[in-house]
Amino acid sequence: MLGNLKSQPADKILALMTKFKEDPRIQKVDLGVGVYKNAEGVTPVMRAVKAAERRLVEEQTSKSYVGLPGDPAFADAMIDLVLGDSVQRDRIAAIATPGGTGAVRQAFELVKMANPDARVFVSNPTWPNHVSILKFLGIPTIEYRYFDTESRAVDFEGMLEDLADAKAGDVVLLHGCCHNPTGANLNITQWQSVIDLINEKGLIAMVDIAYQGFGNGLDEDAEATRLVASSVKEVLIAASCSKNFGVYRERTGLLMAISDDAELTPIVQQNLNYLNRQNYSFPPDHGARVVTMILTDPELRADWAAELEEIRLGMLELRQQLADELQKLSGSDRFGFIAEHRGMFSQIGTTPDKVEQLRADNGIYMVGDSRMNIAGLNKDTVPLLAKAIVDAGI
Ligand code: PMP
Repeated sequence: MLGNLKSQPADKILALMTKFKEDPRIQKVDLGVGVYKNAEGVTPVMRAVKAAERRLVEEQTSKSYVGLPGDPAFADAMIDLVLGDSVQRDRIAAIATPGGTGAVRQAFELVKMANPDARVFVSNPTWPNHVSILKFLGIPTIEYRYFDTESRAVDFEGMLEDLADAKAGDVVLLHGCCHNPTGANLNITQWQSVIDLINEKGLIAMVDIAYQGFGNGLDEDAEATRLVASSVKEVLIAASCSKNFGVYRERTGLLMAISDDAELTPIVQQNLNYLNRQNYSFPPDHGARVVTMILTDPELRADWAAELEEIRLGMLELRQQLADELQKLSGSDRFGFIAEHRGMFSQIGTTPDKVEQLRADNGIYMVGDSRMNIAGLNKDTVPLLAKAIVDAGI
């Protein structure tokens, strides 16, 4: 049986990580994998997370199973963080999941159970896992235009044109903030137009929010998700705590399913619980408990929010420094988009050949689609990257 298996393509980003580690050059810059790093290249455990973990070790009296949806206090705390009071609580069913990936996977499975004919519209480009999970589940997937490779902003006209092909019951997958991989985001007026189209056509909205607090601020980054949640009848939201709490390996996420009518919530909840049961029974608890403790303890929450803000502002500063440096070296404003983009990534919009040239000539590692992780830079490496980009004729 096992001999029938075919080899699977290596994950490109993980392969790049290995290549970086094996590169003997002292001067090299890793802009590949999507993990926040500070100026020293370290992905730190956040202060509030350490404090909450210490408290958990002291106070936790049992590691017995929690319910299938996970700890209800986690769902409440995350719903509050992501949605504020934009939606009536009794319209929301929710399950804890292993990371944002788990939430995305369970959301797609729920779509398939509820409507086997649904197609999912995804941005071109999107986080590659969206596409690969949809393919794995056999869900028809349609790309909509998203990134204008000239301006490196959203191709909004193209996006609306392509979404106009969606039929009632189809799902539109949107990134709540900090689009991965491009860094280009809709403004709130554009969000409203997408919502209008969704409502006119009777579509389902799905929002993946994995970087709340990395763009314009905790509430600001949730604004679009809240607008969708309060204006569309049926909404699925996959939220990840990996980045904004720095708990990547703890696998902490939440799937929310918002029904039009609160009477549907119990049955939606049953189906979400069922999906958890089929896939892994109980979701991971440690990260969820840490997050809950932070969000519900005013002191821990304030410290967490302050550290997250330092991280966000640090990335914005690097963006500005890089845009300024490129402006200086190239004598043109064509790299201004780097300061406009938000989140951890920017797609600089060049060819795989040029990306390879940056790696070979300068030890600069970015993903083949020219996505770079801004957090992989620091004040000293920004000028090196800027020079390499200009020298490569990008
Ligand atoms: N969605 C998007 C768009 C992401 O970029 C990520 C992280 N790479 C995730 C979801 C999920 O991350 P995790 O499973 O680590 O929480």
